[in-house]
Amino acid sequence: MGVYREEFVVSSSSRFELIDITDKVREIVSKSGIKNGIVHVFVPHATAAIIANEHEKGLINDYITLIKRLIPPDAPWEHNRIDNNAHAHLAAGIIGPSRSFPVVNGSILRGTWQNIFLVELDGPRSHRRVVVTVIGD
Ligand code: ZN
Repeated sequence: MGVYREEFVVSSSSRFELIDITDKVREIVSKSGIKNGIVHVFVPHATAAIIANEHEKGLINDYITLIKRLIPPDAPWEHNRIDNNAHAHLAAGIIGPSRSFPVVNGSILRGTWQNIFLVELDGPRSHRRVVVTVIGD
C-alpha cells in the first residue's frame, strides 16, 4: 500500500466563495500512480471547508445564501470581539475541513454532479492551502 501527499494553494477574491478544485485533485490522483484506494482532501484552516456538489452558478450562490442564513455574520458572536470572523469559524466547523473519495482504476469515483470545492468563508485570502493525500495500491 502506498501513500502520496501533495498540497497546492488557491486564492479567493471575496468573503464567501466556492472554488472548484476538482481538476487539481484529479491531477494529483493521477500523478500519485495509485489506482485503487482513497483520496482525502483537507484544508488546514479554521475558516474554510471542503464540499462536493454540482458546479452550477445558481447553486453556488444558493450555498452562500444558506450559509449566511444559518450563521449570520453580523450576529453578536463572542469571537467577533477579538476577530471579526466568528461566522466563518462556525460554518467551517459544521461543514468540515475535509472530504474523502474512492479512487477506482486511477480515477476519483464521484457522481456526475459532484465537483470538489474549497469553501471560502473569510476571504479574500491569498494563500489557502489544500492538502491531498492518496492512499492505496
Ligand atoms: Zn477568528
